[in-house]
Amino acid sequence: MARVLYLGGLGRSGTTLVERLLGELPGVCALGEVVHLWQRDIVHDERCGCGARFSACTFWKRVGERAFGGWAAVDVARVHTLRDAVERTRHIPRLAGYAEAPPDVREYANFYARLYAAAADVAGVGVVVDSSKHSALAHVLRWADDVDLRVVHVVRDARGVAYSWTKTVARPETDGIDEMTRYSPARSAMLWNAHNAAFGLLSRRGVPVRRIRYEQFLADPRSGLRDLASQAGIQVAESDLDFLGDGYADLSVGHSAAGNPMRFTVGRVPLRRDDAWTAALPPVQRRLVGAVCAPMLRAYGYRLNPQEA
Ligand SMILES: [Zn+2]
Repeated sequence: MARVLYLGGLGRSGTTLVERLLGELPGVCALGEVVHLWQRDIVHDERCGCGARFSACTFWKRVGERAFGGWAAVDVARVHTLRDAVERTRHIPRLAGYAEAPPDVREYANFYARLYAAAADVAGVGVVVDSSKHSALAHVLRWADDVDLRVVHVVRDARGVAYSWTKTVARPETDGIDEMTRYSPARSAMLWNAHNAAFGLLSRRGVPVRRIRYEQFLADPRSGLRDLASQAGIQVAESDLDFLGDGYADLSVGHSAAGNPMRFTVGRVPLRRDDAWTAALPPVQRRLVGAVCAPMLRAYGYRLNPQEA
């Protein structure tokens, strides 16, 4: 049975950094955002985190052979049909309500299950990390055969998330042709509510969900990682965290299949929370996002005004 640590949360919440740090732990292999692998990698042959084209990466080549008898054998059109049928945010109430999942949900989930098991074997690890983030996919994976699903729900202040979604970020894996999606603050605030609520619902369905706050995690990454290792069911020695220094981490090459451009970074990266929004997000937008997200911001322990205790 493959043990999967699924990183969930709305994009721009710091999941890529958390994934990269987890990938440095012994017995853990970080796979990137597997949800995008079918299209971006199998079809478009984008770059792996190691820098090679997907088709040229030895790790993924072996995973494809073991899981499916080669990537060419994967019916990507079928994966997309299933995805459209079952993995939508609006389907979450239905996904959460099943006592027994219908065949298309199981079929879709098992594409992932086969990939996870093969990746764990090829990497020789007990835990794989999928940072796909989408809450609907997490609800689907509840129905995968032979997957020991454990979720890390990464929450970041909705106003920081909103600011980040307004910025332009290029996607280096497409050699600069493409940019990452942008959302208006109103749109990202609605998405923030919906996705975070969906992970609460997943937890009430019996899936182990550990919620972490991006800001808190970066304040003490050592204890944050130890906490996540225990969620993954692995033992870490103090020396296993030697890649963490005072305010930085030393990252090695990984094989992230898709995701934020930070997946290509190798070497020393600063571990500093990005609070640019506190100065750069216009007050009117800050109030809007704060109002739309107020109940859950408070529930997660965020202060809406600097004056609030
Ligand atoms: Zn690679």
